[in-house]
Amino acid sequence: MALLQKAAPFSSSLCSPSAATPHSQRRSICVTLSLSPFTEKHSKERYQREQWVYHTTPEPRTASFPLPLDSPSLREDDIALQLPELKNLLRLLREKRENCGNGGGECAPGNVFLVGTGPGDPELLTLKALRVIKDADLLLYDRLVSNHVLDLVAPQAKLLYVGKTAGYHSRTQEEIHELLLSFAEAGATVVRLKGGDPLVFGRGGEEMDFLQQQGIQVKVIPGITAASGIAAELGIPLTHRGIANSVRFLTGHSRKGGTDPLFVSENAADPESTLVVYMGLSTFPSLAQKLMQHGLSPQTPAAAIERGTTLQQRTVFAELKDLSEKISAAQLESPTLIIIGKVVELSPFWPISTKEESCLMQA
Ligand code: SAH
Repeated sequence: MALLQKAAPFSSSLCSPSAATPHSQRRSICVTLSLSPFTEKHSKERYQREQWVYHTTPEPRTASFPLPLDSPSLREDDIALQLPELKNLLRLLREKRENCGNGGGECAPGNVFLVGTGPGDPELLTLKALRVIKDADLLLYDRLVSNHVLDLVAPQAKLLYVGKTAGYHSRTQEEIHELLLSFAEAGATVVRLKGGDPLVFGRGGEEMDFLQQQGIQVKVIPGITAASGIAAELGIPLTHRGIANSVRFLTGHSRKGGTDPLFVSENAADPESTLVVYMGLSTFPSLAQKLMQHGLSPQTPAAAIERGTTLQQRTVFAELKDLSEKISAAQLESPTLIIIGKVVELSPFWPISTKEESCLMQA
């Protein structure tokens, strides 16, 4: 197995080659697993940024961090605590809107921007996204929006976390719809930030549909999806002439929340196609088996990339038959993207031989 770590901002126990180094000059470095670059549910930074929604409580939660992690009442608490301030903000916006109407001036309609923030590296943000983020009144963001991207938000803008983690919803999709609608109706410029591209496995389509049905204009600003950002980072040409004539984005999600991926393996087992699996960690063992049963070679090159394009990126390269085991051994966590196909072998980081791989692990 080859386990590559991009950089070592704060280090620990893993020994791995630097992914920032070309294949020929790779050296091994020992690094520590660091804190997530993403806006995790319990990240302290997140609560600090959202102080405006918590300051009505006698003891601000930011001051008494750590929060009661995974407390079953956390979701309800979170929303209940946010509610007074959200209502307050909404009231102010509505008053401002009424006043502008009374003065004979034109009330500018509210807008919703659905903005993709890319896979994590803030330099992968588009100029358009940056402009919209800076002009926003209120920003609703997900877990996969990186802290570095949030650093670009103007200080007076209000930030609200509406992200989800597996099996846990801080806000339901319906609540998010209602929030977007209420603030847009009150005339605010609302920005909905989503990791990667908002229309690739991001539920952006549902939000757009809901708002448009309510007469709210939604503008979509695309982002670099994890597949493109991560493939570029690793030098994997997703569609290389003569090797892969198509690329397919799959969800590893299981409809019933189990370990079985959706029934795609029959037609996905195509050696001429590159497969990119989103949200596929828990169902990958089953998906890999099915792909092989349907004819994909067990030797097909594959990679799993955790926290791609961030300083904490970790990558495992292996043949399809071994990848599942290697993912477990490296204890990769979400977000992890899986790329399967002959093009993976074209990466300058693909280990040339098993012998070299073990050397890398030992060093
Ligand atoms: N809209 C996003 C995808 C959201 S689905 C996009 O276009 O990229 C969430 C899944 O995307 C994660 O479970 C993971 O499989 C993948 N993903 C997103 N960002 C990632 C990153 N930085 N590193 C690895 N995988 C990532």
